[in-house]
Amino acid sequence: MDGLIVVDVQNDFCSGGALPVPDGDAVITPINRLMGQIPFTVATRDWHPPDHRSFAAQGGPWPVHCVQGSAGAQLHPELHAREIDAVVDVGQGRDDEGYSGFEGSELERLLREQNVDTVHVGGLALDYCVRATALDAARLGFRVILHRDATRAIEARPGDEERTLQELRQAGVEILA
Ligand SMILES: [Zn+2]
Repeated sequence: MDGLIVVDVQNDFCSGGALPVPDGDAVITPINRLMGQIPFTVATRDWHPPDHRSFAAQGGPWPVHCVQGSAGAQLHPELHAREIDAVVDVGQGRDDEGYSGFEGSELERLLREQNVDTVHVGGLALDYCVRATALDAARLGFRVILHRDATRAIEARPGDEERTLQELRQAGVEILA
């Protein structure tokens, strides 16, 4: 059984958002296509309190983004919402990093309940939340397939994208061009 994890395709990570991933909107069309092909989809959301420790005002690396209930935290409106079977929220505690969709969430249980053994992954951003989610899925024993066309990287440091792909390959993640 195949399942799809759509990682953090939220307004704040797309164009016009608080923390836009370069070319991030380009993931939407391939993800909509995948959702039409894969029977079970879970979307994750970065879902932070206003004083989350990843925010610059708290000494963290990022601008304020994906504050719980804000417009920026909503899933992008062009995602085919009817294809999304469940939504899980991460990073909800002030000190929860929340990069991985599995961190303190129901994600693993939801996948196991559907007898998912092969997890497809796409979303934002490749070098942060997609990376952490795919690595956790591999550690949990799922076959993991990253769809390269359905993800984009931030590249805060040049080479992050390539390093991430290499790390994922070494962890057993299959990467589909
Ligand atoms: Zn965040």
